Amino acid sequence: MKILVLNSGSSSLKFKLYEMPSKKVLAQGLVERIGEERSLIHLRYDGPTYESSEPVHDHRHALEILEKIFPRFGILPSFKELGGVGHRVVHGGESFTAPTLIDATVRSAIEALIPLAPLHNPANLMGIDAFTALAPETPQVAVFDTAFHQSMSPEAYHYAVPDSWYREWKVRRYGFHGTSHFYVSRELARLKDTPLEGLNCITLHLGNGASVCAVRGGKSIETSMGLTPLEGLVMGTRSGDLDPGVHYYIHRCTGKSPEEIDRILNKESGLKGIAGSNDMRVIQHRMEQGDESAKLAFDLFVHRLRKYVGAYAVLLDRLDALVFTGGIGEHSAPVRQALCKGLTALGIELDLAANEAVRTDARPVHSAESRSELWVIPTDEEGVIAEECYRLVEENVKG
Ligand code: ADP
Repeated sequence: MKILVLNSGSSSLKFKLYEMPSKKVLAQGLVERIGEERSLIHLRYDGPTYESSEPVHDHRHALEILEKIFPRFGILPSFKELGGVGHRVVHGGESFTAPTLIDATVRSAIEALIPLAPLHNPANLMGIDAFTALAPETPQVAVFDTAFHQSMSPEAYHYAVPDSWYREWKVRRYGFHGTSHFYVSRELARLKDTPLEGLNCITLHLGNGASVCAVRGGKSIETSMGLTPLEGLVMGTRSGDLDPGVHYYIHRCTGKSPEEIDRILNKESGLKGIAGSNDMRVIQHRMEQGDESAKLAFDLFVHRLRKYVGAYAVLLDRLDALVFTGGIGEHSAPVRQALCKGLTALGIELDLAANEAVRTDARPVHSAESRSELWVIPTDEEGVIAEECYRLVEENVKG
């Protein structure tokens, strides 16, 4: 069965076509700058890479172009051949605790959650609506970034604010990157050949967006992102944790509006706010050259991470493993080394040679003496979406 995975942003559409259940990737790519004069289409498959620059008006147009070029390269004769389409949907609120087949009710529920994710859910809906318009009979599945964290207990997900804010406005902690935290914790159990139910781990998804999750027996019990992805770690352009009093103080000092302050905290803060770049490779390089602001950004990133790992180790009672994933987690030996240097209180010890080895596969990086294991596990969110879509289609749709 062929499954198409779509990740729709406001002006982009990432796609990956799988043969299931083998999870063989048949094609993948990206349509960028949708709605601009010159959009970019990038397609990789079992043949020469295809690139094109042409106007793409909207998500539906992007899908129409894909449906035209897939047969040309022998990838797929028509969208009608698809067994299902899996969509990444950012916010599932309290309505969705697991991947779900999309029907009119589910679509409305995703729409009703737009106030909680005003940038992401409308974009995800554009992908769903565009595909529905082209192939209405094909089953579609939504896989939510928040769903994995719905297992958090009330003391973990509530904020200490007036209860009416929760009851009337759904103000609570939801967490994000759930598909990634789920995948790497499950992979850890598989690689260790041990049941997930008996495993306690902390998963560190460190990309441009970054979050930590405490996973007990395969269930999220705490995570660092909250109502929005702004809470928690220092990120590429997001501030992470902040005294809520900063908002009003900056408003009083500068006259900036709440919208503008929110934008700055999301887009102009984090590594970029401190050192002018949100790319950890640039930060590391500049730090080696003696750049003070790059050193501060790096140290702040690691310090915040260290606080979270310490706190989550206490919540888990017993820490079997720490898992690194995401662009920084998978590739930055200096970040892993600096973090582990600060975790001696937990008896954590890195194998320096294993940490430095440049590899792209999953591997352990702890020393023989380390009290908890340390793993680098490349994340695969699209693979999980394909699996879940395939499972739901097999269970519910196929006669
Ligand atoms: P996104 O959250 O957008 O999916 P990624 O998971 O791809 O992001 O991670 C992007 C981050 O990974 C960037 O900060 C980038 O600098 C960092 N990164 C990628 N490769 C390396 C590397 N070799 N060393 C350090 N950082 C890296």
